[in-house]
Amino acid sequence: MTAPRAHIEPPRLGEPYLLTPGPLTTSIAVKEAMLRDWGSWDDDFRAMTSKLRAKLLELLGEGADSFDCVPMQGSGSFSVEAMLASFIPRGCKTLVLANGAYGMRSAQTLEYLEREHIVLNKGDYLPPRGNEVAQILADDPAITHVVAIHCETSSGILNPVEEISDAVYSAGRKLLIDSMSAFGAIELKVADIRYEAMVSSANKCIEGVPGFGFIIARKNELEAAKNNSHSLSLDVHAQWAHMNKTGQWRFTPPTHVVAAFLEALRAHKEEGGVKGRGARYSRNRDVMVAGMRDLGFETLLKDRWLSPIIVTFFCPADENFVFDRFYELMKEKGFIIYPGKLTAVDSFRIGCIGQMDENVMRQVVTAAKETLDEMGVASAIPPALALKERAKLAA
Ligand SMILES: *Cc1c(COP(=O)(O)O)cnc(C)c1O
Repeated sequence: MTAPRAHIEPPRLGEPYLLTPGPLTTSIAVKEAMLRDWGSWDDDFRAMTSKLRAKLLELLGEGADSFDCVPMQGSGSFSVEAMLASFIPRGCKTLVLANGAYGMRSAQTLEYLEREHIVLNKGDYLPPRGNEVAQILADDPAITHVVAIHCETSSGILNPVEEISDAVYSAGRKLLIDSMSAFGAIELKVADIRYEAMVSSANKCIEGVPGFGFIIARKNELEAAKNNSHSLSLDVHAQWAHMNKTGQWRFTPPTHVVAAFLEALRAHKEEGGVKGRGARYSRNRDVMVAGMRDLGFETLLKDRWLSPIIVTFFCPADENFVFDRFYELMKEKGFIIYPGKLTAVDSFRIGCIGQMDENVMRQVVTAAKETLDEMGVASAIPPALALKERAKLAA
């Protein structure tokens, strides 16, 4: 049997590749799926919603029948907020595992929601480990829920969610996962890792366009979530109950985005599902990181923690290197990169997800080399401080 091969579609002539963690470069077929209008109440669209929910559940593998999928309008953060508000009842206490901007955003969301919480803040890029989580839970029996970020997109670190899940359930608590930038490319099979609910969105690894997120949760948690939410529009239980009863979304659905997403799911399956998609992204990362290292660039993370989603590089120490100019010159060559989010040292990020393969990644490296030459940067080696920072990262 030959492995399924991805059919990659470059953007239209003159449009840059988005080397960003979403919105990302989508196929022409995904864009074309949006070239008609749908009545939100019509049977055709209801069937599309039902198909979307079923196909997403399939990605969970064996045991998926104890879960249900609830799509929610808005960007990914709307779905994170919906999940936290709906599955963490008032009076509960939550431990948020943070190592970057998205972990901190979950904590801030709980602040808005007035849900009691504490944060294990590991800084910019250190992973929260299972033994630390176990210790915190043993010391504080009031904690009922733990929130973890699967891939912390701000550094690109792939957090060890399996060992976190083991620690949470050994202590008899509940886990909620923000798998926004990982789901669809990194396995989150319910037979392998236990959790109550997870959240992701249309414009990340499934390669749709932005406009909705989705919460996948255990049916018993969905049932128990009634009246938990502070918000009418973000109430997951209400959206779920209404969808199951009528087949419709409660409020205007992003019809075109749903149509595009179904095409994206079809292509995802054709590529070999989570496995195939993850393999292409891993290859993208490996080729791109090797090429960038050849130019002297250094990654923030050691290989063990590098996700196949997005990679953080230190800015070169060379005084001729100015990020804004690097960005503009890369864009002229057809590649939109992403600024960094580290507090201590300057950095930038290159995404590996979207309609791109290793050939595109080689072109990215060539463009980076040409750009350094144009800027008069002799070497991309980072400042000593950056390497000192990185040395803190456990092997
Ligand atoms: C993209 C992302 C989100 C959601 O961001 P939005 O801008 O609201 O779509 C949340 N968590 C993680 C880890 C993400 O990568």
